[in-house]
Amino acid sequence: MSLSNYTIQVNTSPTSRIDQVDFNNLIFGANFTDHMFTCDYIDGQWVNPTIQPYGDLTISPAAKVFHYGQAIFEGMKAFKDDTGKVFMFRPDQNIKRFNKSAIRLAIPEFPEDLFLHALNELIKLDRDWVQPGFGNALYIRPFAIATQPGVLASPANQYKFIILLSPVQSYFSGEVKVEVAEKYSRAADGGVGAAKAAGNYAAQFYPTNLAADRGFQQVVWTDSREHKYLEEAGTMNVFFRIGDTLITAPTSERILDGVTRKSLIKIAEDLDIPVEVRRIHIDEITEASKNGTLKEIFGSGTAAVISPVSAISYKGVEYKLPEMKKEDKYGVILKQKFMEIQYNICEDYADWRVEVK
Ligand SMILES: *Cc1c(COP(=O)(O)O)cnc(C)c1O
Repeated sequence: MSLSNYTIQVNTSPTSRIDQVDFNNLIFGANFTDHMFTCDYIDGQWVNPTIQPYGDLTISPAAKVFHYGQAIFEGMKAFKDDTGKVFMFRPDQNIKRFNKSAIRLAIPEFPEDLFLHALNELIKLDRDWVQPGFGNALYIRPFAIATQPGVLASPANQYKFIILLSPVQSYFSGEVKVEVAEKYSRAADGGVGAAKAAGNYAAQFYPTNLAADRGFQQVVWTDSREHKYLEEAGTMNVFFRIGDTLITAPTSERILDGVTRKSLIKIAEDLDIPVEVRRIHIDEITEASKNGTLKEIFGSGTAAVISPVSAISYKGVEYKLPEMKKEDKYGVILKQKFMEIQYNICEDYADWRVEVK
C-alpha cells in the first residue's frame, strides 16, 4: 500500500491535554489523544478527510447506527522504540479486515490508501502521546457508523469513519478462569462472527456476566451447533498446548481472524514449536487434563497479546492448568518474541513493522 493522494485537512488543537495524563496509571482505553481523524460518506463517496481536535460529535437521534447497529471497528497498536521512532504493527492486516467487516455489515469500504495515510498523519501529529518503554503503546481505534437519520430498516447512505488514539500501558489481566459455553453462542454459521461488528460484543456481555457470577472471568465460545468445539476465549482467539504441541482452531465464519493469532503461529513455527491448526473438541481437552498432557491455555489479541488461563470449567467440573516454570511456558516465550518485534528490539524478519514517518 502506498500513501494516498487524498489531502487530509488538518485543524490542530490550540492546546494539549497531555500534561493532565498520568502515563504511569493509565486505565485501558480511557484516555484519548489531542486529535482524531474523521471522514464522511455522502452521495456514494468518502469525503472531507479531516484531522481535528478530539471532541464530541453531533449526530441525529434517528441515525441508523442507534436503531439497526451498523457499526464496525478495528483494534491495533503503535509503539515507540528507544530512539524515538514510532511503528505500527501490521496495519495492512487491520485495514483489510476492516473492509471485510464493512462488506458483511453493508457498510461502504474505506479506501485502503487513505486509511493508511490517515493513520500515519494522525499518529505523527500525536506522537508525543506514544510513550517509550516495553509495554507502553498507543491503542488505535478506527470505526465506522451509519449516520443517516431515519428508522426505515435499510442500510444507511451516510456514514462516519473515525480514528481515535488512546495511550495504554502493558495490559495484564492476571490469570483468568474460563468456562466453556454450553448454551449461548457469540457467533453462528452464516452470521457475523468473523466481522469486527460492535454488536458481537453486546451479544456476549450477558453470557459473560452469567459466567462471572459463577466465578469465571471469560467464556470459551464453542461451535453454535453442538457446543463441543472450542473456538475463541472471550474477545480473543484461543490456543491450547497439549504435550509440546500448540493447537488453535482454524478461522471460519464464526471465528475472528486475529492478527495476533496469525503472528503467533508464524513465530511459533519459526521457533520450531509444533503448531496444529485444527478443530479442538472439548473431550480432547478434558482427557488431556486428566492424563496430565494439557499444559497451557491462553487467549491472544491486540490488547494483552497473550492472556494465560489458570483453569477451564466444563459441565461444572473445573480443570486446573499445571504450574510451570516461566521460561518453559509457550505463552511467555511467544509474547516476548512478539513484543520484541513490535518494539524494534529484534529483527523484523517478517516485515511486520511500519514506521510512522
Ligand atoms: C479483535 C478480536 C480478536 C483478536 O484479534 P487481534 O487482531 O489479534 O487483536 C479475537 N477475537 C475476537 C472476537 C475479536 O473481536
